[in-house]
Amino acid sequence: MGNDTRPPAGTAAAADAATAALLEPGQRPPAAEYDVALLDLDGVVYSGPEAIPGAVQALAAAREAGLRLAFVTNNASRSPSAVALQLTRLGVAARSADVVTSAQAAATLIANRFPAGSPVLVAGAIALRLALRERGLRPVSVAADRPVAVVQGYAPDISYGLLAEAGVAVRDGAFFVATNTDSTLPTPRGPQPGNGSLVQVIVTATGRRPVVAGKPETPLHAEAMARTGATRPLVVGDRLDTDIEGAVRGGADSMLVLTGVSTPLDAVLAPPSRRPTYLAAGLGGLLEPQPAVGPRGSGHAATSGPATTPGLAVTSGPAVTSGPAVTPGPAVTSGPAVTSGQAVTPGPAVTSGLAPKPGPSAAASVFRCGGWEARRPAAPGPIELDGGGAWIDGLRALCAAAWSGEQLTPDLAEPALKTLGAPAC
Ligand SMILES: [Mg+2]
Repeated sequence: MGNDTRPPAGTAAAADAATAALLEPGQRPPAAEYDVALLDLDGVVYSGPEAIPGAVQALAAAREAGLRLAFVTNNASRSPSAVALQLTRLGVAARSADVVTSAQAAATLIANRFPAGSPVLVAGAIALRLALRERGLRPVSVAADRPVAVVQGYAPDISYGLLAEAGVAVRDGAFFVATNTDSTLPTPRGPQPGNGSLVQVIVTATGRRPVVAGKPETPLHAEAMARTGATRPLVVGDRLDTDIEGAVRGGADSMLVLTGVSTPLDAVLAPPSRRPTYLAAGLGGLLEPQPAVGPRGSGHAATSGPATTPGLAVTSGPAVTSGPAVTPGPAVTSGPAVTSGQAVTPGPAVTSGLAPKPGPSAAASVFRCGGWEARRPAAPGPIELDGGGAWIDGLRALCAAAWSGEQLTPDLAEPALKTLGAPAC
């Protein structure tokens, strides 16, 4: 990883590379491996008004290690200066320029299509109007002003009258942009309607769908990369469906932190489009190399094949460990087919010439991380997890096992998660 030969982030080739990431053991901490962290905020740096425990210290140490920080938020209702002020008060020094919002990304999308001074109908907050002005566009509020575009972002006091004006303009052919389509917003009273729910008002009324600037679409991360000049960004977030999927789509590596919305079960069940490169309990994960995950260094007769766990940094050892006992079970002890020391592939070839009576776990895939071992049986069944140590290592082993085959159902992962005893399981 030191000599980076990977394609630039944002390209299709980079997307392929990211989903097939196989990082070597002994790698440096992510803070030393990447040039810029594109950090989500809520659930990552803070939760409501409070900093997430350990986040402030971890970010200070990551900066010390050379990582630059950009704060990238789908929230279009707060200005970059307001966000920077909140971060600074929490102890994370930030300037307005370090904050990239979906309002800014939406404004850039429109400014790239229409000349300066073009009228844009804003169904959103003051911060969205400011973002448009900064890019030379002219915010308006009524369809009679013949806007070239309609941009919709969250505003807690949005009115029916304004939504109706936006609907008229969209129906008349204005370019329709949504800052983001998060269906809900986290609040102390639980999830409440987010911009995605409000966007559906106009979608339903007009039959037209918006271009979306925010995560998981790529314009917001692209704006952050352009702003920072990042060449090796690491996307850090707490949501698989926005932060991590956005990273995968853009071809960037990513880290899921388990301090916000997505849970350990969500991570285990993640489809390939939402699998992070790193799993971390919190932002402290920026400072430690992720331990190797894979079928390594075992005296067991594991018959796992090459680790095929797109997303997570998985290190695969030899397909089969040394020793003659290639397939466990009594049927293996006779016959000439077992060749000590030779790489043996999983599946029927292992028992060629032998009575095909493998034990129940003969074809299980085994993944180890730290002191944990996750076994995925060949036949559909629950993943088994044994061992001890840091729970995040157990979750890494569990994800590697879960991601190595067909999509799991929750009932096949939940027993192992109970064994793990992770917070929020
Ligand atoms: Mg978040």
